[in-house]
Amino acid sequence: MIDHSVFNNKKVVFHTLGCKLNFAETSAIGKKMREEGFVKAKSGEQADVCVINTCSVTDVADRKCRQAIGKFHRQHPNALMVVTGCYAQLKPEEIANIEGVNLVLGANEKFSILEYLGNLNKDDSAVIHHGSVKKVREFKPSCSRDDRTRYFLKVQDGCDYFCTYCTIPMARGRSRSASVAETVEMAREAIREGAKEIVLTGVNIGDFGRSTGESFFDLVKALDNIEADVRFRISSIEPNLLSDEIITFVSQSKRIMPHFHIPLQSGTNEVLKLMKRKYDRELFSHRVDKIKLVLPDAFIGVDVIVGVHGETAELFEESCRFINSLDISQLHVFTYSERAGTKMLEIEHHNSVTEKKRRSDILHLLSEKKTKAFYEKHQGKTYPVLWESRNHGENIVGFTSNYIRVEKPSDRNDINTVEMVQLGEWNTDGNALLINYCLKSKV
Ligand code: SF4
Repeated sequence: MIDHSVFNNKKVVFHTLGCKLNFAETSAIGKKMREEGFVKAKSGEQADVCVINTCSVTDVADRKCRQAIGKFHRQHPNALMVVTGCYAQLKPEEIANIEGVNLVLGANEKFSILEYLGNLNKDDSAVIHHGSVKKVREFKPSCSRDDRTRYFLKVQDGCDYFCTYCTIPMARGRSRSASVAETVEMAREAIREGAKEIVLTGVNIGDFGRSTGESFFDLVKALDNIEADVRFRISSIEPNLLSDEIITFVSQSKRIMPHFHIPLQSGTNEVLKLMKRKYDRELFSHRVDKIKLVLPDAFIGVDVIVGVHGETAELFEESCRFINSLDISQLHVFTYSERAGTKMLEIEHHNSVTEKKRRSDILHLLSEKKTKAFYEKHQGKTYPVLWESRNHGENIVGFTSNYIRVEKPSDRNDINTVEMVQLGEWNTDGNALLINYCLKSKV
C-alpha cells in the first residue's frame, strides 16, 4: 500500500489531447491527485509529475502526442512522465520507448495512477501497466470544467460498433455507462459547482444505458426534469440512435439545446457499407428533415471523413452532392488515415495524400458556405446567449441556444450569465455575430 503523504505539495501538470471525453477524464484524474495532496504547477514552475492524456484517432493525433511528450519532457526534465489515453492503450511499447517516459497506463489503469506513481524513479526505464481492452468493463464517471463555463459530463464510454476505419473500440473497450440516477446526480454536482451549461459526452452516447437496461432517451428526459438554471447540449450522436422521439422531445424541452452533432462520414451508401456504418443516407436525411420540421432554427453539425479506401472520385462527387442537399449548419471534415488492426486496410482501393487534401478542401469550402447561410438566416432574431469568455480583451463571447457564436463589447463581468440578445452584423473577424441590443432581462 502506497503512503500517499509522499504526494503532499508535489507539483503536477496535465496535458490532454483529443476529444471532450479525454478532457473529462483528465479532470477526474486531476481531482483524485489533488485530493491526495498534489498541487497544480503554476506556469514556469518545475513539475514533479507530468500527465499526458493521449488520443490516437489518426496518425496526426499520434504524432501530436509524441510532440507533446517531447515538449513536456524538455520543459520538466526531472518530472516523472506519465502517459495514458487511447494511444497508450493501443501502442504502450511505442510510447515507453520515447525519451523521458516513466509510466504508461492503459484504459483500465489510468484512474489508479496514484497506486503506480509511488514506486517510480526518474532514472528507471519506463514501466507499462496495461491490460487487454476486453477486460475494460467498469464505467468510470468523469466531469470536466474547461477554462470557461462549459462542463463536459462523461455519460458513456466504449463502443460495440467496430466501424471499419475506427480503432476506438480497441482503445476504449465495450459500450458501458452508469445508471440514469447516477448520471443525473453527476449533473447535479456540476450544477452545484456553478455549471450553466453541460455537454453530454462519450464515445457512442446514443448507446447509453446498454449496460443498465435503460436508454439515452430516459437520460435526456431525466436531465430535462432537473429544476435548475442550466442548459444541456448533446454532443456527437449516431444517426441510427438519434430517434425521432428524442428529436421531438428536444423540440419541447426546457433545457436541452436545439443543437445536434451527427456523424454522417459519407454521403453515399456504397461507402457507408464499406465503413460498416449502421444507417444509410436516406435515414440520415430523414433525421435532418425531422429536426428542421420540429426545430427549424436548430444547429446541425455533421462529421464527414474524406479519402477512405474504396471512396472513388465519382463516389466523392456523389457524396458532395448529397451533403450539399442537406439543410445543415457546419461540417467537421476529417481526412482518413490508416489505423492498425482495422478492417478497412483489407480494401484494395487507396487514395493519395494529394487527392485526400483536394477532397478535404472542397468540403471545408462547402462547410463555410453552410455556416455563413445559417448565421445570416438568424440575423435580427433574438436568442438566449451564455456569455463564456473574453477575446481580444474588450469583447466577450458566447453561444446562443442554437450554437451561434456571438460577441459584444462589455466591461462588465457577464461571463457565465445568460442574456436575451438580438443578433446583428458579422464581427470584423467574420467568426461571430455582434448583437443589436440586449433585452436587459437576465434569463
Ligand atoms: S461508432 Fe464507429 S466510429 Fe464511432 S467510436 Fe464506434 S466504432 Fe468508432
